[in-house]
Amino acid sequence: MVHDALARPLASLRLSLTDRCNLRCRYCMPEEEYVWLPRASILTFEEIARLAGVFTGLGAAKVRLTGGEPLLRHDVPTLVALLRQNERIADLALTTNGMVLAAQAAPLRRAGLHRLTVSLDTLRPDRFEAYTKSKRHGDVLEGIAEARRAGFERLKLNTVVVKGYNEDELADLIEFGRGAGAEVRFIEYMDVGGATQWSPDQVVSRRGMLEALERRYGRIEPVTVPAANDGGALRGARDVASKATAPAERFVLADGTTFGIIASTTAPFCRTCDRSRLTADGTWYLCLYAERGISLRDPLRAGASDDELRELISDTWRGRRDRGAEERLALVGRHALYPVESLRADPHREMHTRGG
Ligand code: SAM
Repeated sequence: MVHDALARPLASLRLSLTDRCNLRCRYCMPEEEYVWLPRASILTFEEIARLAGVFTGLGAAKVRLTGGEPLLRHDVPTLVALLRQNERIADLALTTNGMVLAAQAAPLRRAGLHRLTVSLDTLRPDRFEAYTKSKRHGDVLEGIAEARRAGFERLKLNTVVVKGYNEDELADLIEFGRGAGAEVRFIEYMDVGGATQWSPDQVVSRRGMLEALERRYGRIEPVTVPAANDGGALRGARDVASKATAPAERFVLADGTTFGIIASTTAPFCRTCDRSRLTADGTWYLCLYAERGISLRDPLRAGASDDELRELISDTWRGRRDRGAEERLALVGRHALYPVESLRADPHREMHTRGG
């Protein structure tokens, strides 16, 4: 396993399958129109699988498919099956907004996808429409139900908590998750590229979330037992490996219901961050906040061997010192990371291009 300059392993790879999305979430893609990656630059499934093979050979046993909306890419189950041929991938997951999940859940399961995370910020269709510019809230709920029917037992729900939007729904979302067989992860609103309307006063901190939930549920305890013992919901060595550096802190209610909080804004986890991101056009980012990435598509398409790619990736990782979220936290007068014009000038700065 290769380590960076701060002793962090290259353990987790996020693969963005497309920069396109069928929602326009206010905290991620609030504009109507975007500058898209050129079609010819988008990696084929074979190119993705080959690069994933090089990364996994360097220790990246956790792979997550994301975007944009990954399920907008045609035939994702075929990619999943291709990646499952790589035995070094111990944990293969996908994050989706759920809009077209109902039809895809069973084929994804059959192809061998291990885990699914569905983004769900609100249970109220009117709020969903106001925030995403889509009336299809019901399709997301149906996608979640279908995922359970297809056999995804370890479903997660991602909720970005934004003050004035959904901070009054935290308990309702936990209750919904309990009924749907899913664990909710509340994510602090981050000032990533794309979040052009971000301001500090819209962030609900981990502490604020816990206080609100304690008013409803009473005492809430942090989960200290290893995830493998977690009520049988997580099993096996793969689970232990996949939880070791997970950013979510998990908590448990008196009745045993668990949930997570990802405090990326007020308590960043840069110190243990083992993630890097490959965009749909093969640009590799060492940090969500990194100014620049490096093209792996260029050497790949120029005929580089696996050994040459391995050397490029491991040398680059060894020099990694990124601590983007911690540096943002240290700023005085923090505001949105980029203005719209700067995102248009370089769409690689967008969260939906980098892969969330
Ligand atoms: N389209 C898929 C989805 O909606 O889950 C995958 C891509 S999306 C960029 C991945 C995750 O990033 C989602 O859970 C989304 O809520 C989260 N996200 C996007 N913008 C964010 C922001 N400004 N702060 C915190 N999380 C954000």
